[in-house]
Amino acid sequence: MTVTRFAPSPTGYLHVGNLRTALFNFLIARKQGGEFILRLDDTDPERSTTEYADAIKVDLEWLGLTWDRVETQSSRLDRYAAAADELRAKGRFYEAFETPTELDLKRKKQLNMGNPPVYDRAALALSDAEKDALRAERGSGVWRFKLDHERIVWTDGILGDISIDAASVSDPVLIRADGQVLYTIASVVDDTEMGVTHVVRGSDHVTNTATQIQIIEALGGAVPNFAHHSLLTGPQGEALSKRLGTLALRDLRERGVEPMALLSHMARLGSSDPVELRGSVDELIEGFDLSKFGAAPTKFDEQDLFPLTAHHLQQQPVSAMAADLDALGVPSDLQDSFWTVAKDNITTRAGLEQWWALCRDGAEPEIDAEDADFVAEAMALLPDMPFDADSWSSWTSAVKEQTGRKGRGLFMPLRKALTGMSHGPDMSQLMPLLQKVRAKA
Ligand code: GLU
Repeated sequence: MTVTRFAPSPTGYLHVGNLRTALFNFLIARKQGGEFILRLDDTDPERSTTEYADAIKVDLEWLGLTWDRVETQSSRLDRYAAAADELRAKGRFYEAFETPTELDLKRKKQLNMGNPPVYDRAALALSDAEKDALRAERGSGVWRFKLDHERIVWTDGILGDISIDAASVSDPVLIRADGQVLYTIASVVDDTEMGVTHVVRGSDHVTNTATQIQIIEALGGAVPNFAHHSLLTGPQGEALSKRLGTLALRDLRERGVEPMALLSHMARLGSSDPVELRGSVDELIEGFDLSKFGAAPTKFDEQDLFPLTAHHLQQQPVSAMAADLDALGVPSDLQDSFWTVAKDNITTRAGLEQWWALCRDGAEPEIDAEDADFVAEAMALLPDMPFDADSWSSWTSAVKEQTGRKGRGLFMPLRKALTGMSHGPDMSQLMPLLQKVRAKA
Protein backbone atom coordinates (compact mmCIF):
# COMPACT_ATOMS: atom_id res chain seq x y z
CA MET A 1 0.00 0.00 0.00
CA THR A 2 1.16 3.53 -0.75
CA VAL A 3 1.97 5.42 2.44
CA THR A 4 3.04 9.07 2.44
CA ARG A 5 3.53 11.59 5.17
CA PHE A 6 3.68 15.32 5.65
CA ALA A 7 6.21 16.05 8.37
CA PRO A 8 6.25 19.68 9.47
CA SER A 9 8.10 20.79 12.57
CA PRO A 10 5.63 22.62 14.82
CA THR A 11 8.00 25.55 15.17
CA GLY A 12 6.07 28.02 13.02
CA TYR A 13 3.00 28.50 10.84
CA LEU A 14 2.65 26.67 7.53
CA HIS A 15 3.44 28.72 4.44
CA VAL A 16 2.95 28.18 0.72
CA GLY A 17 6.25 26.30 0.47
CA ASN A 18 5.10 23.79 3.10
CA LEU A 19 1.76 23.52 1.36
CA ARG A 20 3.43 22.28 -1.80
CA THR A 21 5.00 19.42 0.17
CA ALA A 22 1.79 18.63 2.05
CA LEU A 23 -0.35 18.69 -1.08
CA PHE A 24 1.91 16.48 -3.21
CA ASN A 25 2.13 13.83 -0.50
CA PHE A 26 -1.61 14.02 0.11
CA LEU A 27 -2.45 13.71 -3.59
CA ILE A 28 -0.12 10.75 -4.13
CA ALA A 29 -1.65 8.86 -1.21
CA ARG A 30 -5.22 9.62 -2.22
CA LYS A 31 -4.66 8.89 -5.89
CA GLN A 32 -3.41 5.42 -5.03
CA GLY A 33 -5.94 4.71 -2.30
CA GLY A 34 -3.13 4.78 0.25
CA GLU A 35 -2.52 6.33 3.61
CA PHE A 36 -1.52 9.91 4.41
CA ILE A 37 0.14 10.49 7.77
CA LEU A 38 0.53 13.84 9.48
CA ARG A 39 3.79 13.56 11.36
CA LEU A 40 4.81 16.29 13.75
CA ASP A 41 8.60 16.52 13.85
CA ASP A 42 8.77 17.85 17.38
CA THR A 43 12.09 16.53 18.65
CA ASP A 44 13.24 20.06 19.43
CA PRO A 45 11.47 20.76 22.74
CA GLU A 46 12.56 24.37 22.85
CA ARG A 47 11.13 25.42 19.50
CA SER A 48 8.13 23.09 19.16
CA THR A 49 4.82 24.25 20.61
CA THR A 50 1.31 22.83 20.78
CA GLU A 51 0.04 26.17 19.52
CA TYR A 52 1.92 25.67 16.25
CA ALA A 53 0.89 22.00 16.09
CA ASP A 54 -2.77 23.03 16.44
CA ALA A 55 -2.36 25.80 13.88
CA ILE A 56 -0.92 23.31 11.38
CA LYS A 57 -4.01 21.12 11.80
CA VAL A 58 -6.33 24.09 11.40
CA ASP A 59 -4.61 25.08 8.15
CA LEU A 60 -4.75 21.57 6.71
CA GLU A 61 -8.40 21.19 7.73
CA TRP A 62 -9.25 24.52 6.12
CA LEU A 63 -7.82 23.17 2.87
CA GLY A 64 -9.51 19.79 3.20
CA LEU A 65 -6.19 17.93 3.29
CA THR A 66 -7.39 15.26 5.67
CA TRP A 67 -4.90 12.88 7.25
CA ASP A 68 -5.45 9.29 8.29
CA ARG A 69 -3.48 9.56 11.51
CA VAL A 70 -1.16 11.82 13.45
CA GLU A 71 2.23 10.74 14.72
CA THR A 72 4.44 12.78 16.99
CA GLN A 73 8.17 12.22 17.15
CA SER A 74 8.39 13.31 20.79
CA SER A 75 6.42 10.20 21.75
CA ARG A 76 8.78 7.87 19.88
CA LEU A 77 12.10 8.77 21.48
CA ASP A 78 12.64 5.18 22.67
CA ARG A 79 12.47 4.01 19.04
CA TYR A 80 15.22 6.45 18.06
CA ALA A 81 17.35 5.38 21.03
CA ALA A 82 17.00 1.76 19.91
CA ALA A 83 18.08 2.68 16.38
CA ALA A 84 21.06 4.59 17.77
CA ASP A 85 22.08 1.48 19.75
CA GLU A 86 21.81 -0.59 16.61
CA LEU A 87 24.06 1.79 14.67
CA ARG A 88 26.55 1.75 17.53
CA ALA A 89 26.54 -2.06 17.58
CA LYS A 90 27.13 -2.08 13.83
CA GLY A 91 30.11 0.25 14.12
CA ARG A 92 28.35 3.04 12.18
CA PHE A 93 28.04 5.54 15.01
CA TYR A 94 30.82 7.46 16.71
CA GLU A 95 31.14 10.14 19.33
CA ALA A 96 32.91 13.37 18.41
CA PHE A 97 33.92 16.14 20.76
CA GLU A 98 34.87 19.14 18.64
CA THR A 99 33.43 22.43 19.82
CA PRO A 100 31.55 24.58 17.29
CA THR A 101 34.54 26.94 17.22
CA GLU A 102 36.91 24.10 16.41
CA LEU A 103 34.64 22.86 13.64
CA ASP A 104 34.40 26.34 12.25
CA LEU A 105 38.18 26.65 12.19
CA LYS A 106 38.52 23.32 10.39
CA ARG A 107 35.99 24.42 7.79
CA LYS A 108 37.79 27.71 7.20
CA LYS A 109 41.12 25.94 6.74
CA GLN A 110 39.61 23.50 4.25
CA LEU A 111 38.00 26.32 2.29
CA ASN A 112 41.28 28.27 2.27
CA MET A 113 43.01 25.24 0.77
CA GLY A 114 40.27 25.04 -1.85
CA ASN A 115 38.81 21.86 -0.36
CA PRO A 116 35.14 21.15 0.40
CA PRO A 117 34.33 21.73 4.10
CA VAL A 118 33.70 18.10 5.00
CA TYR A 119 34.17 16.86 8.58
CA ASP A 120 37.63 15.22 8.74
CA ARG A 121 36.62 12.34 11.03
CA ALA A 122 39.34 13.21 13.52
CA ALA A 123 37.16 11.68 16.26
CA LEU A 124 37.50 8.24 14.68
CA ALA A 125 41.18 8.22 15.58
CA LEU A 126 40.58 8.85 19.30
CA SER A 127 41.53 6.09 21.73
CA ASP A 128 39.14 5.15 24.52
CA ALA A 129 41.39 6.92 27.03
CA GLU A 130 41.37 10.10 24.93
CA LYS A 131 37.60 9.95 24.66
CA ASP A 132 37.26 9.53 28.43
CA ALA A 133 39.52 12.53 28.96
CA LEU A 134 37.53 14.66 26.51
CA ARG A 135 34.25 13.57 28.05
CA ALA A 136 35.53 14.49 31.51
CA GLU A 137 36.62 17.87 30.20
CA ARG A 138 33.77 18.77 27.83
CA GLY A 139 30.88 16.49 28.72
CA SER A 140 29.21 14.15 26.21
CA GLY A 141 30.04 14.51 22.54
CA VAL A 142 27.75 14.49 19.53
CA TRP A 143 27.04 11.22 17.72
CA ARG A 144 27.84 11.05 14.04
CA PHE A 145 26.81 8.46 11.51
CA LYS A 146 29.78 7.00 9.66
CA LEU A 147 28.96 7.19 5.97
CA ASP A 148 30.31 4.55 3.61
CA HIS A 149 32.43 6.44 1.13
CA GLU A 150 30.81 5.30 -2.06
CA ARG A 151 28.37 6.90 -4.47
CA ILE A 152 24.80 7.10 -3.24
CA VAL A 153 22.35 6.77 -6.12
CA TRP A 154 18.60 6.92 -6.50
CA THR A 155 16.05 7.68 -9.16
CA ASP A 156 14.23 10.76 -7.99
CA GLY A 157 10.54 11.10 -8.83
CA ILE A 158 11.15 14.65 -10.07
CA LEU A 159 14.90 15.15 -10.49
CA GLY A 160 15.61 11.85 -12.25
CA ASP A 161 18.84 9.90 -11.67
CA ILE A 162 20.87 11.32 -8.78
CA SER A 163 24.35 10.26 -7.75
CA ILE A 164 26.11 11.82 -4.77
CA ASP A 165 29.63 11.00 -3.61
CA ALA A 166 29.31 10.24 0.11
CA ALA A 167 32.90 11.41 0.61
CA SER A 168 31.77 14.94 -0.28
CA VAL A 169 29.32 14.97 2.63
CA SER A 170 30.12 15.29 6.36
CA ASP A 171 29.16 12.37 8.56
CA PRO A 172 25.81 13.69 9.83
CA VAL A 173 25.30 14.40 13.51
CA LEU A 174 22.28 12.37 14.60
CA ILE A 175 22.34 13.02 18.34
CA ARG A 176 23.38 16.29 19.90
CA ALA A 177 25.69 16.60 22.89
CA ASP A 178 22.67 17.29 25.12
CA GLY A 179 21.13 14.01 23.97
CA GLN A 180 18.54 15.55 21.64
CA VAL A 181 17.79 13.23 18.74
CA LEU A 182 17.92 15.02 15.42
CA TYR A 183 15.48 14.89 12.56
CA THR A 184 17.81 12.97 10.24
CA ILE A 185 17.60 9.74 12.23
CA ALA A 186 14.11 10.26 13.69
CA SER A 187 12.73 10.64 10.19
CA VAL A 188 14.47 7.50 8.95
CA VAL A 189 13.19 5.41 11.87
CA ASP A 190 9.64 6.70 11.36
CA ASP A 191 9.65 6.25 7.60
CA THR A 192 10.92 2.70 8.00
CA GLU A 193 8.65 1.64 10.86
CA MET A 194 5.55 3.31 9.43
CA GLY A 195 6.07 1.72 6.03
CA VAL A 196 6.34 5.04 4.19
CA THR A 197 6.65 4.26 0.48
CA HIS A 198 6.93 7.74 -1.04
CA VAL A 199 8.65 10.84 0.31
CA VAL A 200 8.17 14.11 -1.51
CA ARG A 201 9.92 17.13 -0.05
CA GLY A 202 11.80 20.26 -1.06
CA SER A 203 15.06 20.10 -2.99
CA ASP A 204 16.83 21.57 0.05
CA HIS A 205 16.64 18.00 1.39
CA VAL A 206 18.60 16.31 -1.41
CA THR A 207 21.79 15.90 0.65
CA ASN A 208 19.75 14.68 3.62
CA THR A 209 18.25 12.06 1.37
CA ALA A 210 21.68 10.79 0.40
CA THR A 211 22.72 10.31 4.02
CA GLN A 212 19.31 8.97 5.01
CA ILE A 213 19.51 6.29 2.34
CA GLN A 214 22.68 4.98 3.95
CA ILE A 215 21.14 5.12 7.42
CA ILE A 216 18.05 3.25 6.22
CA GLU A 217 20.25 0.60 4.67
CA ALA A 218 22.39 0.34 7.80
CA LEU A 219 19.20 -0.28 9.81
CA GLY A 220 17.94 -2.83 7.30
CA GLY A 221 14.92 -0.79 6.20
CA ALA A 222 13.34 -0.40 2.77
CA VAL A 223 14.33 2.78 0.94
CA PRO A 224 11.19 4.72 -0.07
CA ASN A 225 10.72 6.43 -3.42
CA PHE A 226 12.12 9.91 -3.05
CA ALA A 227 11.11 13.00 -5.02
CA HIS A 228 12.33 16.55 -4.45
CA HIS A 229 10.27 19.44 -5.71
CA SER A 230 11.93 22.71 -6.66
CA LEU A 231 11.85 25.60 -4.26
CA LEU A 232 9.48 28.49 -4.79
CA THR A 233 10.80 31.89 -5.79
CA GLY A 234 9.09 35.25 -6.03
CA PRO A 235 7.58 36.43 -9.34
CA GLN A 236 10.94 37.80 -10.54
CA GLY A 237 12.82 34.67 -9.56
CA GLU A 238 14.00 36.25 -6.31
CA ALA A 239 14.51 34.05 -3.25
CA LEU A 240 11.30 33.67 -1.31
CA SER A 241 12.82 32.37 1.91
CA LYS A 242 12.70 35.73 3.68
CA ARG A 243 9.16 36.45 2.55
CA LEU A 244 7.73 33.03 3.37
CA GLY A 245 6.84 34.34 6.79
CA THR A 246 4.33 36.67 5.13
CA LEU A 247 3.00 33.90 2.94
CA ALA A 248 1.62 31.90 5.83
CA LEU A 249 -1.53 29.97 4.97
CA ARG A 250 -3.39 31.65 7.82
CA ASP A 251 -2.58 35.06 6.29
CA LEU A 252 -3.82 34.01 2.86
CA ARG A 253 -7.00 32.72 4.53
CA GLU A 254 -7.35 36.06 6.32
CA ARG A 255 -6.97 37.86 3.00
CA GLY A 256 -9.87 35.88 1.56
CA VAL A 257 -8.08 33.35 -0.64
CA GLU A 258 -10.41 30.39 -1.22
CA PRO A 259 -9.08 26.89 -0.47
CA MET A 260 -9.87 25.53 -3.94
CA ALA A 261 -8.12 28.50 -5.56
CA LEU A 262 -4.98 27.91 -3.52
CA LEU A 263 -5.03 24.14 -4.00
CA SER A 264 -5.70 24.37 -7.73
CA HIS A 265 -2.79 26.76 -8.13
CA MET A 266 -0.33 24.76 -6.06
CA ALA A 267 -1.26 21.40 -7.60
CA ARG A 268 -0.14 22.63 -11.03
CA LEU A 269 2.39 25.42 -10.50
CA GLY A 270 5.80 24.27 -11.74
CA SER A 271 4.36 21.44 -13.82
CA SER A 272 3.94 21.21 -17.58
CA ASP A 273 0.14 21.23 -17.15
CA PRO A 274 -1.65 24.59 -17.02
CA VAL A 275 -3.13 25.90 -13.79
CA GLU A 276 -6.87 25.20 -13.93
CA LEU A 277 -9.44 25.96 -11.31
CA ARG A 278 -10.86 22.70 -9.95
CA GLY A 279 -14.17 22.38 -8.18
CA SER A 280 -13.19 19.78 -5.61
CA VAL A 281 -10.28 17.96 -4.03
CA ASP A 282 -11.38 14.82 -5.88
CA GLU A 283 -10.86 16.59 -9.20
CA LEU A 284 -7.39 17.65 -8.07
CA ILE A 285 -6.53 14.08 -7.18
CA GLU A 286 -7.65 12.90 -10.59
CA GLY A 287 -5.64 15.53 -12.44
CA PHE A 288 -2.39 15.19 -10.48
CA ASP A 289 0.78 13.76 -12.00
CA LEU A 290 4.09 14.14 -10.15
CA SER A 291 6.08 13.25 -13.25
CA LYS A 292 4.90 16.49 -14.91
CA PHE A 293 6.89 18.62 -12.44
CA GLY A 294 10.27 20.01 -13.36
CA ALA A 295 13.46 20.72 -11.44
CA ALA A 296 13.64 24.45 -12.25
CA PRO A 297 12.76 26.89 -9.46
CA THR A 298 9.04 27.65 -9.46
CA LYS A 299 7.84 31.24 -9.58
CA PHE A 300 5.05 32.00 -7.18
CA ASP A 301 3.02 35.19 -7.22
CA GLU A 302 0.37 35.43 -4.54
CA GLN A 303 -1.55 37.87 -6.75
CA ASP A 304 -2.44 34.93 -9.00
CA LEU A 305 -4.57 33.54 -6.18
CA PHE A 306 -7.11 36.36 -6.36
CA PRO A 307 -8.44 35.90 -9.92
CA LEU A 308 -8.75 32.18 -9.13
CA THR A 309 -10.60 33.05 -5.92
CA ALA A 310 -12.98 35.34 -7.81
CA HIS A 311 -13.55 32.67 -10.43
CA HIS A 312 -14.23 30.07 -7.75
CA LEU A 313 -16.78 32.33 -6.06
CA GLN A 314 -18.58 33.02 -9.34
CA GLN A 315 -19.18 29.31 -9.67
CA GLN A 316 -20.77 28.92 -6.24
CA PRO A 317 -24.53 28.39 -5.95
CA VAL A 318 -26.29 30.62 -3.44
CA SER A 319 -26.68 27.63 -1.13
CA ALA A 320 -22.90 27.54 -0.67
CA MET A 321 -22.98 31.15 0.47
CA ALA A 322 -25.85 30.93 2.95
CA ALA A 323 -23.67 31.30 6.04
CA ASP A 324 -21.98 34.43 4.69
CA LEU A 325 -25.27 35.96 3.54
CA ASP A 326 -26.95 35.20 6.85
CA ALA A 327 -24.04 36.74 8.72
CA LEU A 328 -24.39 39.90 6.64
CA GLY A 329 -28.10 40.01 7.42
CA VAL A 330 -29.31 39.55 3.84
CA PRO A 331 -33.00 38.52 4.18
CA SER A 332 -33.55 35.00 2.88
CA ASP A 333 -35.97 36.09 0.15
CA LEU A 334 -33.32 38.41 -1.28
CA GLN A 335 -30.31 36.08 -1.00
CA ASP A 336 -30.68 34.50 -4.40
CA SER A 337 -31.01 37.74 -6.35
CA PHE A 338 -28.37 39.48 -4.22
CA TRP A 339 -25.85 36.69 -4.83
CA THR A 340 -26.58 36.71 -8.57
CA VAL A 341 -25.78 40.42 -8.66
CA ALA A 342 -22.86 40.42 -6.26
CA LYS A 343 -20.88 37.35 -7.29
CA ASP A 344 -19.50 38.82 -10.49
CA ASN A 345 -18.41 41.97 -8.68
CA ILE A 346 -16.30 40.59 -5.86
CA THR A 347 -12.77 39.19 -5.59
CA THR A 348 -13.18 37.65 -2.13
CA ARG A 349 -16.12 36.97 0.18
CA ALA A 350 -15.26 40.11 2.11
CA GLY A 351 -16.34 42.12 -0.94
CA LEU A 352 -19.96 41.12 -0.31
CA GLU A 353 -20.19 43.49 2.60
CA GLN A 354 -19.74 46.56 0.46
CA TRP A 355 -22.50 45.51 -1.96
CA TRP A 356 -24.91 44.60 0.79
CA ALA A 357 -24.26 47.92 2.54
CA LEU A 358 -25.08 49.66 -0.72
CA CYS A 359 -28.35 47.76 -1.10
CA ARG A 360 -29.37 48.17 2.53
CA ASP A 361 -28.33 51.78 3.17
CA GLY A 362 -28.10 53.26 -0.30
CA ALA A 363 -24.96 55.04 -1.45
CA GLU A 364 -23.64 58.53 -1.01
CA PRO A 365 -24.48 59.80 -4.50
CA GLU A 366 -21.73 60.95 -6.81
CA ILE A 367 -23.01 63.80 -8.94
CA ASP A 368 -20.79 65.80 -11.27
CA ALA A 369 -21.51 69.55 -11.20
CA GLU A 370 -22.63 69.64 -14.84
CA ASP A 371 -25.14 66.82 -14.15
CA ALA A 372 -26.70 68.33 -11.04
CA ASP A 373 -29.85 69.66 -12.76
CA PHE A 374 -30.22 66.56 -14.86
CA VAL A 375 -30.01 64.26 -11.81
CA ALA A 376 -32.49 66.42 -9.87
CA GLU A 377 -34.92 66.19 -12.77
CA ALA A 378 -34.40 62.42 -13.01
CA MET A 379 -34.94 61.94 -9.28
CA ALA A 380 -38.36 63.50 -9.57
CA LEU A 381 -39.22 60.73 -12.04
CA LEU A 382 -37.84 57.87 -9.89
CA PRO A 383 -40.52 55.17 -9.46
CA ASP A 384 -41.77 54.39 -5.98
CA MET A 385 -40.01 51.74 -3.93
CA PRO A 386 -39.82 48.77 -3.78
CA PHE A 387 -38.19 48.63 -7.19
CA ASP A 388 -38.61 45.67 -9.46
CA ALA A 389 -36.93 44.19 -12.51
CA ASP A 390 -38.51 46.84 -14.77
CA SER A 391 -37.74 49.85 -12.62
CA TRP A 392 -34.44 50.74 -14.30
CA SER A 393 -35.73 50.51 -17.86
CA SER A 394 -38.98 52.34 -17.19
CA TRP A 395 -37.19 55.05 -15.21
CA THR A 396 -34.43 55.61 -17.78
CA SER A 397 -37.02 55.66 -20.62
CA ALA A 398 -39.01 58.31 -18.82
CA VAL A 399 -35.86 60.36 -18.11
CA LYS A 400 -34.73 60.02 -21.69
CA GLU A 401 -38.07 61.21 -22.98
CA GLN A 402 -38.16 64.23 -20.70
CA THR A 403 -34.52 65.33 -21.00
CA GLY A 404 -33.55 64.09 -24.44
CA ARG A 405 -30.36 62.53 -23.05
CA LYS A 406 -29.31 59.09 -24.23
CA GLY A 407 -26.53 56.53 -24.08
CA ARG A 408 -23.72 57.01 -21.60
CA GLY A 409 -24.74 60.61 -20.85
CA LEU A 410 -28.08 59.27 -19.67
CA PHE A 411 -27.07 56.11 -17.85
CA MET A 412 -23.78 57.02 -16.17
CA PRO A 413 -24.99 59.98 -14.06
CA LEU A 414 -27.96 57.89 -12.92
CA ARG A 415 -25.76 54.93 -11.99
CA LYS A 416 -23.44 57.28 -10.06
CA ALA A 417 -26.36 58.94 -8.31
CA LEU A 418 -27.76 55.61 -7.14
CA THR A 419 -24.58 53.71 -6.35
CA GLY A 420 -21.87 56.37 -5.89
CA MET A 421 -19.76 54.42 -8.41
CA SER A 422 -19.14 54.43 -12.12
CA HIS A 423 -18.93 50.65 -12.34
CA GLY A 424 -20.77 47.71 -10.86
CA PRO A 425 -23.56 45.25 -11.49
CA ASP A 426 -26.19 45.47 -14.15
CA MET A 427 -28.50 48.26 -12.91
CA SER A 428 -31.75 46.50 -13.76
CA GLN A 429 -30.64 43.63 -11.53
CA LEU A 430 -29.29 45.87 -8.78
CA MET A 431 -32.26 48.23 -8.52
CA PRO A 432 -34.74 45.71 -7.12
CA LEU A 433 -32.30 45.13 -4.28
CA LEU A 434 -31.97 48.77 -3.30
CA GLN A 435 -33.72 49.48 -0.03
CA LYS A 436 -32.79 53.17 -0.04
CA VAL A 437 -31.87 55.90 -2.50
CA ARG A 438 -30.06 58.67 -0.72
CA ALA A 439 -29.94 60.93 -3.78
CA LYS A 440 -33.70 61.25 -3.57
CA ALA A 441 -33.73 63.12 -0.26
N1 GLU B 1 10.50 18.23 9.48
C1 GLU B 1 11.20 18.19 8.24
C2 GLU B 1 11.04 19.54 7.57
O1 GLU B 1 10.07 20.22 7.83
C3 GLU B 1 10.63 17.10 7.36
C4 GLU B 1 11.39 16.85 6.12
C5 GLU B 1 10.95 15.55 5.49
O2 GLU B 1 9.92 15.57 4.81
O3 GLU B 1 11.59 14.55 5.69
O4 GLU B 1 11.90 19.96 6.82
